[in-house]
Amino acid sequence: MSSPESDTTAAYSCRCAQFVVAVAPSVGHLPRRQADLSGLESIIVAKDKCELVIKGDRDAYSTNLKREDGTEEQWFIYRCPRCNLPFAYDLAKSDAPYTYLLESALNKIS
Ligand SMILES: [Zn+2]
Repeated sequence: MSSPESDTTAAYSCRCAQFVVAVAPSVGHLPRRQADLSGLESIIVAKDKCELVIKGDRDAYSTNLKREDGTEEQWFIYRCPRCNLPFAYDLAKSDAPYTYLLESALNKIS
């Protein structure tokens, strides 16, 4: 049994106030990915465990971030349709099991 609170859907806007994300359970219950490559902490949304609605434009090409060991991590970035600010990313071009939300880019609206 899950608590009522964990079943709540939370909605988030971009800093420009455009609605961009709804996720259940609310992100307060979700694990975090430590800031490493980007310097930003991100929220881990497992697609098989969470309901996620994204209203944004996803880059067709990857942004490659270099790890300390020289290998690269590929980010497929979701951007706000109004102001183009990045607010989330996947680590695979298709069928990514996780989507990562950039916490600092989002404002909770409900
Ligand atoms: Zn925006």
